[in-house]
Amino acid sequence: MVVLQQTLRVFRRIETQITKLVRGFNRDVPQNIVNRPVVNLARNCRNFCDFGGSTSEGVINMAQYSELNSENVKDFLDSFDTVLFDCDGVLWHGMEAESGAQDTIKKLRKLGKTPFFVTNNSTKSRKQYAEKFTKLGFEASKDEVFGTAYMAALYVKEHLNIQGKVYLMGGAGLEEEFQLHGLSYIGPGPDPLEGDIADWANIPLDPEVQAVVVGFDGHVSYMKMMRAASYLNNPNMPFIGTNTDGRLPTKTGRVIPGTGCIVNSVKTAAGREPVIVGKPSKQLVECISKRHKLDRSRTIMVGDRLDTDILMGHNCGIRTLFVSSGISSLEEVKQHQASGSPDRLKFVPTYYLPSVGVLGKLMDTAESPKKRRIETNTSGTQET
Ligand SMILES: [Mg+2]
Repeated sequence: MVVLQQTLRVFRRIETQITKLVRGFNRDVPQNIVNRPVVNLARNCRNFCDFGGSTSEGVINMAQYSELNSENVKDFLDSFDTVLFDCDGVLWHGMEAESGAQDTIKKLRKLGKTPFFVTNNSTKSRKQYAEKFTKLGFEASKDEVFGTAYMAALYVKEHLNIQGKVYLMGGAGLEEEFQLHGLSYIGPGPDPLEGDIADWANIPLDPEVQAVVVGFDGHVSYMKMMRAASYLNNPNMPFIGTNTDGRLPTKTGRVIPGTGCIVNSVKTAAGREPVIVGKPSKQLVECISKRHKLDRSRTIMVGDRLDTDILMGHNCGIRTLFVSSGISSLEEVKQHQASGSPDRLKFVPTYYLPSVGVLGKLMDTAESPKKRRIETNTSGTQET
């Protein structure tokens, strides 16, 4: 670690010196045009150190994405063993599967890749997700699903060790996971506003509540916000949010507010930051690592959101494949990339494709180097 920190300092100095040097030679030309390739080289070296150098390839390229094609897909396929799939906007849109997504996962399994499904959507338990996968024609077991309803229950169980109740703003998925984890809770269901400001200033609080968890709650109300914030007025009360997504992906032009709108309203009223268990925090990856073999240098995160899926990849030192079939657009990626800003480069993926269905089609044209090696060594036997 000390060596890495020293190397980081050296690369920062190199970056500063290169910037000064190039500016000196090119006073009349905008800096972002002239020195970007050179500075990006130094910046990539620095980013490698920031990540603790956790990739097998040495550098996570935050400066420029690569579009996958029939030429480079072989190397891509041979570079990972585990693939983390976001769900909404990647594998499906509501109850409609993304075209070809089922086949892509099937082909990846056939190549020996291990998929996990990591979703910020807290409306379903693991069991309910497994049912949805089956209904939409996917092969997936509940143990492969890491949703934020499960993550929130797990966090309360493993990190808080509380004996009392949780004040829960959430729906059926969160309730099921809390029950499965043996957690007591109050809060779900309608809670309409009653009385006036004099009554609100004296709302009764349950003395057994020892934590507040906020996820997607279709019955969100002013009364619930008031109760959650009032419990959180105790500075020792743990505050957990499932995720901060601003909206759900739709193809109709309508806006469906996401859990971030609920979490942020409670956060504003409480004047406190929650612990977020969903993407882009590291909690999901750490949770999978505890339960399964996960080599981050041999893992790919596939997602449609730059501020959750792609950012989590960067936060965890995991390469990312961005698909433009959901919330974010390729144009946004290009804007982040062109900015040259270290903060915005965290939203630039390693790879790009329009959809996971396209990945399946590319796989048909490719043959993994690993498979070629097996066939060469076994002279005529087929890989299973
Ligand atoms: Mg998504």
